Amino acid sequence: MRTFAYHRAASVDDAVAAVSADPETLYLAGGTNLVDLMKLGVRRPRVLVDISHLPLNHLTHHADGGAVIGATATNAVVAGDPLIRRNFPVLSESILAGASGQLRNSATMAGNLLQKTRCAYFQDVSKPCNKRAPGSGCPAGTGAHRDLGILGVSSSCIATQPSDMAVALSVLDATVHLRNATTERAVALQDFYVPPGNTPDRDTVVEHGELITEISLPALPAGAVTRYHKVRDRWSYAFAVVSVGAAVVLDDDGRIEQARIAWGGVAPRPWRASIAEAELRHHKPSRQLLERALRAELRHATPLPQNAFKVDLVREVTAALLTDLVRTAEDRKVTR
Ligand code: SF4
Repeated sequence: MRTFAYHRAASVDDAVAAVSADPETLYLAGGTNLVDLMKLGVRRPRVLVDISHLPLNHLTHHADGGAVIGATATNAVVAGDPLIRRNFPVLSESILAGASGQLRNSATMAGNLLQKTRCAYFQDVSKPCNKRAPGSGCPAGTGAHRDLGILGVSSSCIATQPSDMAVALSVLDATVHLRNATTERAVALQDFYVPPGNTPDRDTVVEHGELITEISLPALPAGAVTRYHKVRDRWSYAFAVVSVGAAVVLDDDGRIEQARIAWGGVAPRPWRASIAEAELRHHKPSRQLLERALRAELRHATPLPQNAFKVDLVREVTAALLTDLVRTAEDRKVTR
């Protein structure tokens, strides 16, 4: 592990100035992914700027049902917040499906979004990897790729984004707020992750020195029901083989007014199944409709031999989850 310096930021401005000034300086908050990668030699910062104590851990609920969550609010606090559990159950469920209690106590919202792929080659500095060492190659295509992506991947990289929480934030149409030394900007979660293309070393739109300050959530439509379901190789402390976050709103005739579907474990970003969503809109829900919509989305999948099973798995899990959500939405209409 490379020796590094530690700087406890005096303020947000101080933190941004310190990181912006040096390409080898990084922010440190929970450190649950960064420090692991430093131990493996994958990340080798010269300086870490600690922002964990800065006033960026707010959690504010608005009267209209929306919310704003500070970048350093811990995953445990957000998942356990009563209004998050009531207004955005998919978010609470997704966070609780990830990592362990100990990690969730340290891990922050921003750190969760920025966590790196768990592709085994990326984490092993003795192996080539275009994401870690641009131009060195990608051994995953002909090597171990069972856990890697089937949608939105490129010949340069087929890694998946591992965050459960990001899948829920995609369903919730979240916005990520960033600032640097001079300006602030807001980026829709859907535009936050960068497709691998020929530059898989770049995961997100965040520029060096930019700091995530908060994440905002618009209120869900009235009557929306949401849920997160994760398929994993063991019951806890495992990344998703595939996962599904979804929200369903029915109209007064029982048709699907809105379906939002996001997938984890299949792509370099939370994969919003917008083709399937469009196929479902304004139709009476049925098993045949779900099958048709999900197959239309998955026509674009490019699986490899070891991960081809994900195509059927994510379709089946999504159909079951949507069927459950429709039933719940119908029951709520009856009891209202
Ligand atoms: Fe590296 Fe991506 Fe290939 Fe994995 S899939 S070895 S992260 S380039």
